[in-house]
Amino acid sequence: MNRTVIVTGASKGIGAATAILFAQKGYNVVINYNESFESASLLCRSLVSNGYSVITQKANVANRLEVDLMVKETLYKFGSLDILVNNAGIAFSGLITDTDEVDFDRIIDVNLKGVYNCCKSVVPSMVSRQSGKIINISSMWGQVGASCEVAYSAAKAGVIGLTKALAKELAPSGITVNAIAPGLIETNMNSNLSIEELTDFVSTIPLGRMGSADEIAAAIEFLSSDKADYITGQVLGINGGFVI
Ligand code: NAP
Repeated sequence: MNRTVIVTGASKGIGAATAILFAQKGYNVVINYNESFESASLLCRSLVSNGYSVITQKANVANRLEVDLMVKETLYKFGSLDILVNNAGIAFSGLITDTDEVDFDRIIDVNLKGVYNCCKSVVPSMVSRQSGKIINISSMWGQVGASCEVAYSAAKAGVIGLTKALAKELAPSGITVNAIAPGLIETNMNSNLSIEELTDFVSTIPLGRMGSADEIAAAIEFLSSDKADYITGQVLGINGGFVI
């Protein structure tokens, strides 16, 4: 039977690249989205028309009930759930004095509570099968902190703590939990940066360029594969040498 993966936030960027790679590798893929119905549907249609096993599921990862429903529907449709990729995320930049409580809560709710929600909903079925792989997308800012990104850095650091704790909790059940901490990756998330800001940033990256969504997807697929069976509780930095 084909293995099944849920990729949260797969309507674009890193999530979309990951969904495409998993589909090409023969997995049943659930493309989760929240707002971008059009892009999620377009991606799903193009993969299905190429013969791949893909569906879309709308769910706001910050909402427990919606996440639970998404997981139940996935299990109903595909019979099992082997891999969860917690990729959905949003960014927020601003001085702490300009970061309202509502902004802080929103960033934590999507980027950190969203990971908790999805893990909580998938774990029972993985535990009952004594196997599963969870990959959480953190950020290098969760490792070293970004100036003017207090909420985002805190949420992404929280994802790393959650990853390590859950890895210890689930190892006896044959489930691995790892995190990826990307650096500057070429997606919509950085579309607010001007050419000058991007050029300045890139000049500080030892490998001298931005990363691509495909490079993150390849690492996610590796950590989901049998080749990574003995890896758990780790944080894989993919940042062109920016954080060493
Ligand atoms: P992106 O292109 O902006 O895509 C973000 C994705 O997250 C979209 O598919 C979006 O779906 C989804 N999303 C946002 N809020 C959601 C919610 N409440 N529920 C479900 N889905 C939601 O960003 P990206 O660069 O691919 O980012 C993917 C992950 O990598 C994020 O966790 C981000 O923090 C992390 N990351 C990115 C970079 C970078 O430089 N790009 C660096 C480090 C870490 P909808 O549009 O459908 O809502």
